Amino acid sequence: MDQKGYVMSGMSFLMILPAIILVTVSIDMVHHGIECDSVVLESETALNTAKDLQANIPIIGKEVLKYEAEKVVKTGTPLSNSRKTIKDDIQTRVDQLSLSYYNKTGLKVECNITSVDNSPDPFQVEVNSTINVKKDRVIHKESISQNISLIDPQYPIPNPLPFTKCKNYGGVQIINNRIAFKSSLKEYLNARGVDDADVYENATTAYIIKKCPYDPYIMHGKNGSVSLKNCIENGYFHESSDGSCFLCRLEGKGTCPHYGMETFIIPHSSNNSTLNSAPSSIDHVIFNDTFSSAGTYPGKGLIYYCDGLNYFKIFLDNSHRQKYGLPVF
Ligand SMILES: [Zn+2]
Ligand SMILES: [Zn+2]
Repeated sequence: MDQKGYVMSGMSFLMILPAIILVTVSIDMVHHGIECDSVVLESETALNTAKDLQANIPIIGKEVLKYEAEKVVKTGTPLSNSRKTIKDDIQTRVDQLSLSYYNKTGLKVECNITSVDNSPDPFQVEVNSTINVKKDRVIHKESISQNISLIDPQYPIPNPLPFTKCKNYGGVQIINNRIAFKSSLKEYLNARGVDDADVYENATTAYIIKKCPYDPYIMHGKNGSVSLKNCIENGYFHESSDGSCFLCRLEGKGTCPHYGMETFIIPHSSNNSTLNSAPSSIDHVIFNDTFSSAGTYPGKGLIYYCDGLNYFKIFLDNSHRQKYGLPVF
């Protein structure tokens, strides 16, 4: 009996074994399920934090671009390496944000600004970064590339170039939201031996970078120069392969190899209607001092407005006349 009973118990054990396994598996599944839930939660938190940080980079970027441009405007001293200065500046501000905000929430946030460079659109700057968010067992990593706008009206960014070029010739002023050269532009051109510099006594140019809405640009010549007058008075900028890009403008360069921008430089109005010759009123022509006077070539006078007493003129070479749809000579 004992022997038989023992066998039976053995068999019973074998019979209930699947049940034991099933229960064990079920318990493990429940346990695993809870773990899954918390991992999902951790990963969602990490992902949302990365997204939040990603959304903050363009805001920080615009603040930095504005700050650095205003610094050059204030001092007239160009940056020696604008890409590095802006990269380091964004990095410092992102680190401050991570320390003061994200890392207090039990997360470990690391964001490296890897580079700052030209964007294919000259009215944007490219910022590349890697974001690393760690929440307990979950690590979220991503590399991102963002284009930061230079023309967001909430972050008005000034054109730093005239401030660097005219610093040693008496400097420039900001009057009615335009750059007023007084005598400094004439002095700057004279010092380089450029002919007919007198035309630029009391000239003005655009202060804040704004993109011209008259696109395609040949529209400037339509409606008897009304569009050209509006463009000049609003101080708009245009895309240009010869004009320097924003990052090189911060370095005080009048021309550069990158796809950039250009704006008009406007001589003071006068009662003289003579359409003589003078340096072409495009900023990259006026500020091309790479080869002494050779980079600045002449244009012919073009009256875009007359108030009955004074003539409002710019001087343009034929290739820029063609670009803006204006009559060639
Ligand atoms: Zn325009
Ligand atoms: Zn450039």
